Amino acid sequence: MTANSQTPAQTPIVSKWDDAVAATLSEPELLLYRSNLLGSDLRVTNFGGGNTSAKVTMRDHLTGDDVQVLWVKGSGGDLGSIKLDGFSTLYMDKLNALKKRYRGLEHEDEMVDYLPHCTFNLNPRAASIDTPLHAYIPKAHVDHMHPDAIIAIAACADSKRLTEVIFGGQLGWLPWQRPGYDLGLKLEALATSQPNLKGIILEGHGLFTWGDTAKSCYEITLEMIRLAEQWLGENVKQPVFGGVKTITLPAEQRAAIAAQLMPALRGRISAGERKLGDFNDSAAVLQFVASNDLAALAALGTSCPDHFLRTKIRPLVLDFDPAKPDVDALLAGLDKALEDYRADYTAYYERCKRANSPAVRDANPVIYLIPGVGMLSFAKDKATARIAGEFYINAINVMRGANGVDKYVGLPEQEAFDIEYWLLEEAKLQRMPKPKSLAGRVALVTGGAGGIGQAVARQLLQEGACVMLTDIDAGALAEAHANLVKVAGKDSVATVQGNITSEKEVEAVLSATALRFGGLDILVSNAGIASAAPLEDTTLEIWQRNQDILVTGYFLVGRGAFRLMKQQKIGGSMVFVASKNGLVASAGASAYCTAKAAEIHLARCIALEGAAIGVRVNVVNPDAVIRGSRIWDGKWKEERAASNKIDSDNIEEFYRQRSMLKLSVLPEDIAEAVYFMASDKSGKSTGNVLNVDAGNAAAFTR
Ligand SMILES: [Zn+2]
Repeated sequence: MTANSQTPAQTPIVSKWDDAVAATLSEPELLLYRSNLLGSDLRVTNFGGGNTSAKVTMRDHLTGDDVQVLWVKGSGGDLGSIKLDGFSTLYMDKLNALKKRYRGLEHEDEMVDYLPHCTFNLNPRAASIDTPLHAYIPKAHVDHMHPDAIIAIAACADSKRLTEVIFGGQLGWLPWQRPGYDLGLKLEALATSQPNLKGIILEGHGLFTWGDTAKSCYEITLEMIRLAEQWLGENVKQPVFGGVKTITLPAEQRAAIAAQLMPALRGRISAGERKLGDFNDSAAVLQFVASNDLAALAALGTSCPDHFLRTKIRPLVLDFDPAKPDVDALLAGLDKALEDYRADYTAYYERCKRANSPAVRDANPVIYLIPGVGMLSFAKDKATARIAGEFYINAINVMRGANGVDKYVGLPEQEAFDIEYWLLEEAKLQRMPKPKSLAGRVALVTGGAGGIGQAVARQLLQEGACVMLTDIDAGALAEAHANLVKVAGKDSVATVQGNITSEKEVEAVLSATALRFGGLDILVSNAGIASAAPLEDTTLEIWQRNQDILVTGYFLVGRGAFRLMKQQKIGGSMVFVASKNGLVASAGASAYCTAKAAEIHLARCIALEGAAIGVRVNVVNPDAVIRGSRIWDGKWKEERAASNKIDSDNIEEFYRQRSMLKLSVLPEDIAEAVYFMASDKSGKSTGNVLNVDAGNAAAFTR
């Protein structure tokens, strides 16, 4: 459950300020300290939302004189994890001089181009659009937060009067206005004309607070949020959201439905670019989607600009009755539901567009609400999808508070459009780096904890894919997960323990992959074992074990992935990691060689059936990958050494000398070949075999 899923009944926010720590810090460090404290609590501000500032006296590099410098959170990043280099620094005298340049509201966007000219100390951090909101408030320390409890009040029809009632004149109030230069001047005017104010509520948006010291600013911010939470707690009428309309299904059933629904949705909304999904069934979501007010409130749209930039203005509520759960009917209704949503979105664009608006963007929903089941969110990468869901929880919290004490109002449509299609936002989108080659792809790697499995996962992650690792060894899997999180972060990599020889467990692995990321694009079937024994000593057990893992296991995973990809209808790629021994018979390893040959042939058979649905299947044949291999630990190494009549310590050198190119084959070499076969780089290859064996004439394909 996410940290911001709590309902209003909660413990008051407490100050985490530590005077002993603060005493050791400079003014910029105090700003950083305060920012990290504020950002560490999602009740204080949402992820990536809000900003902080301090006006600090500093020595000017050119003149040697003391000057006033505005330190303000720069563009991008999150307060919880911001470092000092996340702040932009600007000369206050230059910012003040800008007022003479200002030509009025219709020209306010041009003021953004002046900000880089105010930079102090060649700081490369770009100043954010919110910079003027901090610069002109005549206080040394300013916080701008997006607390759910405050936005709930800011999104009420009667927000101005409620601000009076709740804060007793401590906070001022300004009507909704898009953040920009003009709003900065309005904040200045209000703070100057009412010097006793501790801050201001911005209608439909959030909170500004200020203080003479970093500590007092921080504590005033918390105090205002506490007051709002307390007042809402005492005044929100029960039952919330008009009471319960439908039952909530048990957790296991919710997950099973989501796992079925996600690939079906993903296939239908990935025509432009592939999307990744996130499932959220936290308490706040379940309460909302089971309520009487669901349809009416969802239709109103979100309020805070931060919310709808992430979630789109409205979610899609799917027609589903959890009391009579009919998943087939739910799936059958998706095309129509999406068509209607897209038509609605396009109509909104046409209604609101201006002469210079950017072209219409992807018209598919981001947020999907399913009564009794929960919420799905889809975006171009996993973190964005997860965060979009968390933002919708912020919106749910806001609607619960606002509608519980007054009447919730979303942002006017034209205002929402002007932010969504703001030319400055468009410029930000245009500056985004080109997506990586596997961005938006989901890969499942079996045998994921082994040397080759981890190297493959690492390469796919580096190319932008999300990776689910599965392995029979839970301990090794946890270790692999810890290694890979360091490379790619926690959003893109996940694990599920499973035995590929069990039909049921394979189904569970595929379900877990769909539930975690939304579907599947790439299967790397890599789980392996090896055995060596002369024919006469090959027991039925040895034989069967090779067949079970290398043939039946590959069949089960391949079949499951095939079904999932077929349901998604956006093609896919499978790569079987086989062996040179699948092409070349080797004495003393009949069980292994035969199973590997079957594995290669299975890949070709799936390639035949997969072509019609855009699923490619190729084989990578490693040979003698010793480093990092669990197969080569222990018995197999001894067996191969004995069979080749060499010392087991010299085995790597033995294989190197045996190869045509006199090179060792490393897990990274296999990963490179798997990546090629998995990616669109090999988009016109299927049924192929790629040997990665440093050259072995007997394995030449023909
Ligand atoms: Zn804001």
